[in-house]
Amino acid sequence: MGTIAVVGASLAGLHAAEALRAGTGDAPGHDGQLVVVDASPTLPPDRPPLSKQVLSGEWDLAQAKVPLADRLDELGLDLRLGTAATSLSPAGGDGRTLTLSDGTELSVEGVVLATGGAVRHLPGPQLGGVHSIRTGEDVTALLADLDAGPSRVVVVGAGFIGAEAAATCRGRGLEVTMLEAAAAPMERVLPGEVGAFVADLHRDQGVDVRLGTGVERLEAGDDGRVRAVHLADGTVVQADVVVVGIGVVPQVDWLAGSDLELRNGVLCDSTMLAGPRVVACGDVACWPNPHFGEEMRVEHWENAVEQGGHAGRRLLDELAGRPGTPFAPVPWFWSDQYDRKIQLAGRPTATDEFVLVDGTVEERRFAALFRRGDRCTAVLGVNRPRHVMQARMQLAQSLAWDDAAALFAPKD
Ligand SMILES: Cc1cc2nc3c(=O)[nH]c(=O)nc-3n(C[C@H](O)[C@H](O)[C@H](O)COP(=O)(O)OP(=O)(O)OC[C@H]3O[C@@H](n4cnc5c(N)ncnc54)[C@H](O)[C@@H]3O)c2cc1C
Repeated sequence: MGTIAVVGASLAGLHAAEALRAGTGDAPGHDGQLVVVDASPTLPPDRPPLSKQVLSGEWDLAQAKVPLADRLDELGLDLRLGTAATSLSPAGGDGRTLTLSDGTELSVEGVVLATGGAVRHLPGPQLGGVHSIRTGEDVTALLADLDAGPSRVVVVGAGFIGAEAAATCRGRGLEVTMLEAAAAPMERVLPGEVGAFVADLHRDQGVDVRLGTGVERLEAGDDGRVRAVHLADGTVVQADVVVVGIGVVPQVDWLAGSDLELRNGVLCDSTMLAGPRVVACGDVACWPNPHFGEEMRVEHWENAVEQGGHAGRRLLDELAGRPGTPFAPVPWFWSDQYDRKIQLAGRPTATDEFVLVDGTVEERRFAALFRRGDRCTAVLGVNRPRHVMQARMQLAQSLAWDDAAALFAPKD
């Protein structure tokens, strides 16, 4: 057997590697060389705790381990950390060439792309005191600034990661301002009721939430550190720490010379095959999910785990000349803010109708279904895990609105 390479040693890449070794049930796993490369000099951390337990000080960074971190020896990986993939040759003959940042040219029979996303930065020079939360190094630097006792933290962006950072900083007793350029948090992707709930949840806790105003520029002091944020509406917010949570971009630039289609990440078919002998998974992969009849790229933890496994098995099928099976999950996501667990399953859009099925938004504990015509597209729960799990299982069977609504209809 030849060499298979996995690019990205984080959640999706390691789960693909595990599946490559395990096999498919019908067929044995890969017992040849399995090279796993990652640009990071250390094994990437499990990312969800970074904005929660690690940022709050409850956990050390070392406790944020991806699930397979303790099984690397058992999987027999040729793990090359601090090594980036720099190019992938187009398909040809019986393999491809993967070029690495140390100059190595690997001849591989198959490749898994699991390069995730890189954070977006605000335009302008990089100032001290301005942070993102993606890597272990990011959170270590942010913690050092928080431990110094800043008088105010400004969070730019009220998406889930920004909102978690605001909640965790507030939980540390810090003064926090959360800025959002849109009129409501997550306005582009979720119905307005959800954004209004998130804004109110933070206001309840004393966060200064400012909506509908973008950042014009950051002002630095003589020491090169940020000292104020100038907003597009002309106001100025003093800040000695700024946390930027304005999304990620899929890491695909290095694939420019390959034969793969790079559109909203690496475009795959419904089975996660991106091209001959290449699969993709996790935050970097875009694919038509047949269950929703929609092309999607999903930046959720559980998707990286499941899609990683699926992509590994798909590559084994590809190399054996077997057709793959479609990847058709109901995406699922959670976020912890204060003492609220927010869970979302499905694929909502901003224009879906928000239909409350349990609790009230005012008491910040509720379950809601999202309706688009005769379809139920998603379920959202705030401290309502049972409702979310029930609806999620239903959505996996059928997206019919009547079926989902019947779950929560009053019983006689
Ligand atoms: C702070 C934070 C909190 C989160 N909280 C939640 C949550 O509560 N719930 C939830 O569902 N999801 C959450 N997520 C999202 C979840 O963690 C991600 O969806 C998941 O980590 C994606 O895994 P991945 O393996 O696809 O990509 P990544 O984890 O981004 O890993 C990609 C890896 O590829 C490497 N790489 C990139 N380019 C190259 C290259 N050219 N060569 C070699 N290596 C390369 C990178 O160094 C990186 O290690 C959170 C994410 C963050 C950042």
